[in-house]
Amino acid sequence: MAEGSARRCLRLEPAAAREVLGAADTLLFDCDGVLWRGDAAVAGAPAVLSRLQARAKRLCYVTNNSSRTRDAYAEKLRRLGFPPAEPRQVFGSAYCAARYLSRALPPDAAAYVLGSAALSAELRAVGVPHLGPGPAALPGPGPADWSRAPLDPAVRAVLVGFDEHFCYAKLCQALRYLQRGGPDCLLVGTNRDHRLPLEGGATIPGTGCLVKAVEMAAEREAFIIGKPSRYIFDCVASEFKIEPARTIMVGDRLDTDILMGNNCGLTTLLTLTGVTTLEEVKGHQESDCPSRKSLVPDYYVDSIADLLPALED
Ligand SMILES: [Mg+2]
Repeated sequence: MAEGSARRCLRLEPAAAREVLGAADTLLFDCDGVLWRGDAAVAGAPAVLSRLQARAKRLCYVTNNSSRTRDAYAEKLRRLGFPPAEPRQVFGSAYCAARYLSRALPPDAAAYVLGSAALSAELRAVGVPHLGPGPAALPGPGPADWSRAPLDPAVRAVLVGFDEHFCYAKLCQALRYLQRGGPDCLLVGTNRDHRLPLEGGATIPGTGCLVKAVEMAAEREAFIIGKPSRYIFDCVASEFKIEPARTIMVGDRLDTDILMGNNCGLTTLLTLTGVTTLEEVKGHQESDCPSRKSLVPDYYVDSIADLLPALED
């Protein structure tokens, strides 16, 4: 909404919320930190989404998490009491990465995948042959053995997502595929999130660390699927008729959710139930640096439950 140096983040009070929601026909929700934290729904969030749906708003779920399938997200929404969602309303970086490769790879080409069982399931669902998920061991005792491990002749892409079995053997193979294929071998990352917040305040390294390791070895940059890349928004826009000016992106993270929304011309709404504090927003707002200004949302709420009064008849 607001532009450049004029961008200011306003608390979305009920009167303004009525107007902002009235002008929107689609809402895109980040999930973790917005709709739920870990395995518990944010109090009041299911009621807000039910009322939005009752007002014929289109609801989509846009998440960088590559360790769940569309079906698993639809099931989690149901389990936590949100209105029923079809898998096609869910845009996770695993599904969107699979969609990207199904279009970008030549017929019969395969992908070498550092990723989870969910990423593998999404690739299977769109018919992309692949290998790599699961544990891997070095093929021998010394570096000479590692550099001679067999390579699949069909591999024309390396895809990096969240991989709990990430290891040196996989990093070696990823580099060797990229060196063999040169620029014709695609390098794709599901997202660059640097950390994953866990319930109770702990954090673990995020997928961005794994993408960076492969980029560093290969001395090239990956094409990124997830927020803030606009590719994930383009996936939504290709499946539904989306008018950016009538679409709200709701997220808890400035450098992914809000930046993507701002870059794609959406109205952006920050919720403080996740990883961001209002102090961080104010720091960016007061900065003269254009790249920091682009992290400032149009509006914020303490929780999306604050939208309830604006949705009462
Ligand atoms: Mg989040």
